[in-house]
Amino acid sequence: MLTIGVVAIQGAVSEHITALEKSSKDLDCKIVTIKRAGIVPHCDGLIIPGGESTTISRILHFEGIDKEILENKGIPMMGTCAGLIIMSDYKDEHVEGLGLIDMQVKRNAFGRQAESFQAPLTVTVFNSPFDGIFIRAPAITQVGDATDVLARFEKYGVAAQQGNKLALAFHPELGNDLRFHEYFLRLLDLHR
Ligand code: GLN
Repeated sequence: MLTIGVVAIQGAVSEHITALEKSSKDLDCKIVTIKRAGIVPHCDGLIIPGGESTTISRILHFEGIDKEILENKGIPMMGTCAGLIIMSDYKDEHVEGLGLIDMQVKRNAFGRQAESFQAPLTVTVFNSPFDGIFIRAPAITQVGDATDVLARFEKYGVAAQQGNKLALAFHPELGNDLRFHEYFLRLLDLHR
């Protein structure tokens, strides 16, 4: 039985759980929420949802969850939107990324006038476009040699993978297309 943890501090948590439930029907797995320390060490995979990276970063640290994620950084993880920021090594006075994917990111990259939009994305690992829902989204400005950019929008990367780590600037849990959750579950199944 696989245990998948969803960081449940703030943001689009229940939508990720629903998407995971729908896409994991054929897998023997259990989905747990993570609000405190002590759960990550029992997880086979982890999702870090979108929300406010400042709040998520502060509470991860306050609860000691950040340390446990780093101690278990070999497991597959998917970060979406603010979760992408947390997975990078982005740092400012409010946010401290965990450095799980070698990439540079820019918060709120798509500016105020486009705080929220939807765009069809060409994704290298899918054979038809994926509709990305962007909400005050960050962007990937640069990646290291071991990181693949899976999708781009305008001049930025918006999806990246390094080994079994996946980071998306948009919100796959808010649409009906489950392909990114299925892709993440395949990484988990392969890792077993
Ligand atoms: N703008 C947010 C941040 O920088 C991310 C927004 C989101 O996760 N939808 O943390």
